[in-house]
Amino acid sequence: MLNETIDWGNLGFAYQKTDKRFVANFKNGAWEEGYLTEDNTVTLHESAGVFQYAQTCFEGLKAYRTADNRIVCFRPDLNAQRMADSCRRLRMPVFPEDKFIEAVKAVVKANADWVPPYGSGASLYIRPYMMGTDAVIGVKPATEYQFRMFVTPVGPYFKGGVKPLTLRISDYDRAAPNGTGHIKAGLNYAMSLFAIVDAHEQGFDENVYLDSGSRTYIEETGGANILFVTKDNKILTPKSGTILPSITRRSLMQVAADYLGLEAEERPIRLDEIDQFAECGLCGTAAVISPVGKIVDHGREICFPSGMTDMGKTTKKLYDTLRGIQMGTIEAPEGWICEIEA
Ligand SMILES: *Cc1c(COP(=O)(O)O)cnc(C)c1O
Repeated sequence: MLNETIDWGNLGFAYQKTDKRFVANFKNGAWEEGYLTEDNTVTLHESAGVFQYAQTCFEGLKAYRTADNRIVCFRPDLNAQRMADSCRRLRMPVFPEDKFIEAVKAVVKANADWVPPYGSGASLYIRPYMMGTDAVIGVKPATEYQFRMFVTPVGPYFKGGVKPLTLRISDYDRAAPNGTGHIKAGLNYAMSLFAIVDAHEQGFDENVYLDSGSRTYIEETGGANILFVTKDNKILTPKSGTILPSITRRSLMQVAADYLGLEAEERPIRLDEIDQFAECGLCGTAAVISPVGKIVDHGREICFPSGMTDMGKTTKKLYDTLRGIQMGTIEAPEGWICEIEA
């Protein structure tokens, strides 16, 4: 049954309370079983680790209805793995990866009415996260934690059509060498807010961050990885230890090679070579790929030949193929699609 109170065609990207969310607590060195609840509030100690020293990390993935009306999600095992990596780096206990996938299935199933219909372009966004909950005042990891997972329906990313983005090369840095750029930690976002608001005020859609060690190489934006298409139709993406390993980007690289027969390479990409490329796109769960029309480096405009009105040809092929795989109209590689029994 579809929730009848929602106008599926006019959803944005904002929190909306759904029926159930998953909660599990870590105490005395062990995770409790966990449970589904209707309560969308959290009451915590005033000195909880999450408040004082930002001990928190998160994930993001989506559930969809396929063409044949199954409810599925895309590679949740990689979200479970990445969250485990984030937790280890922040000295938080890992929520077991198999339990993570079970929780995804339980939460989506409990909110099945909120999974948008096939063809609406909308989807059910799933937000797992964890935080330190007991009191700390000296700088040290908490000893108690809460893992939660809620869902909220979100609209199509390209409402009203595709519009290539204008990015700027940021003077701020996102991630330090040997820092936390490769994990999905809230702290990476807190410090990016100044730069993103500033970018918007200056008329840009997003910031492109350079490697902070040498400020020579392209890294990524605040919330998405970058792909380039060369003039001879090769797919390139930056290689760096301080980029968040996007599941969408890793999937697109495989789609490029295995479905489209394109060469796909991960290598360091210099800022001073991107004016040679034909197309550019940002990749992440939210949009799969958003085309980039222009990158501005302190007044110098790098305009991609794909232009400011449409997705580049190869970007579009990548987008259509991965979307087809997710929606069940193109056969998926083994293990990519996780079915939720409704
Ligand atoms: C979440 C995120 C991405 C996108 O990752 P996906 O797994 O594709 O959604 C890219 N960059 C950053 C910094 C992120 O936090």
